Amino acid sequence: MSDASLQPAPEQVPAYRVERSSVHGNGVFARRDIVPGERVVEYAGREITWEEAQIRAEVQGGPHNHTFFFSLANGNVIDGGDHGNEARFINHSCEPNCEAIEEENGTIFIYALHDIKQDEELSYSYPLIYEGRHTAAIKREFACRCGALKCSGTMLAPKPRKRNPKPKAKPQPFADLVPAAATVQIPQPVAAG
Ligand SMILES: [Zn+2]
Repeated sequence: MSDASLQPAPEQVPAYRVERSSVHGNGVFARRDIVPGERVVEYAGREITWEEAQIRAEVQGGPHNHTFFFSLANGNVIDGGDHGNEARFINHSCEPNCEAIEEENGTIFIYALHDIKQDEELSYSYPLIYEGRHTAAIKREFACRCGALKCSGTMLAPKPRKRNPKPKAKPQPFADLVPAAATVQIPQPVAAG
């Protein structure tokens, strides 16, 4: 445990740290109190095209709990696994204390939704869009254990019935290689050798 009696000024302390989480694998925790609306951390990573994201997900053997591509309004995605930072360890919660917002320049930042106390785990709500069949194995892989009173039990968004072409205000993370536009843009199979 950290020594709470030796705290420098808040602005000198990084707002977060990575630690093992009881929710899933690693998690990101508040190193100090965080105020509502505070910009906590950029969701860093390389901006790649959907085509490249599909190839990368296929190389990894399909959707996994930590394959996270954030879609951008311009149709590209941020791959948090490529030149990413601690933000990719932020876990999902059905009652999150943070949210991800795409800035005008196409970067994604994690903002505090409300007061976060020191040592509290940071979370945001992923509506993970998975266009493939929601099989038992997929549901298991993306089961939610956030512990919230209103936990939906899954990180997967319900399958959308139709695609809304209007640009979204918030970036959408995806569990899989299939883009949100998959209903109009059939993923191309990747030539294997
Ligand atoms: Zn939950």
